[in-house]
Amino acid sequence: MDILETRQLLERLASLLRTEARNLLFQHGLQPIQFEALHYLSICNRYSDTLMGVTDYLGQTKGSVSQTLKVLEKKGLIEKTPDKTDKRVAHMLVTKAGYNLVENILPSSLLERANKQLSKKDAASIETSLRSLLKSMQHANNFKTFGQCATCIHNIKLSSGGHVCGLTKEALSGEDIELICREHEPNNSC
Ligand code: SF4
Repeated sequence: MDILETRQLLERLASLLRTEARNLLFQHGLQPIQFEALHYLSICNRYSDTLMGVTDYLGQTKGSVSQTLKVLEKKGLIEKTPDKTDKRVAHMLVTKAGYNLVENILPSSLLERANKQLSKKDAASIETSLRSLLKSMQHANNFKTFGQCATCIHNIKLSSGGHVCGLTKEALSGEDIELICREHEPNNSC
């Protein structure tokens, strides 16, 4: 892979998507980074919807993420809720208005239109390559993978058909295993 060329391509793609999102978000008075935090919170599990979870995901400082979350809370898109067992921890729960906003903005219509112009084979190959690149970059820098719970090495499938998290020993519902998690460790057999 030509590193310079690949970087330029990724930057260009990101810039097109950012511009599209910026135009849509302008109507809601939100910055792209604030929407990224909201989107993350809408797809992460209960172990990941904290200030630290968002900080790790966005790769920003705790201070700036804290400001971002305050904006989302003020706009009624998330609600800060104390953890049931550890009162020092607060969960950032996405409100109905927050989910509605995410559904209005995503998926990107620009990407949808581009996807229609690609063959099924090309589209699938792009997705596989991007996933593989992301995985390698996360691995190269010891970044957390934030993968889907169903593909985690700690996800234990019970003979009853249910699932349990090997780290927290808590039961995982069908919905839980679809969400992403900051404690995720890839199960390479998935
Ligand atoms: S099984 Fe893995 S991804 Fe799922 S909740 Fe546990 S640590 Fe997180």
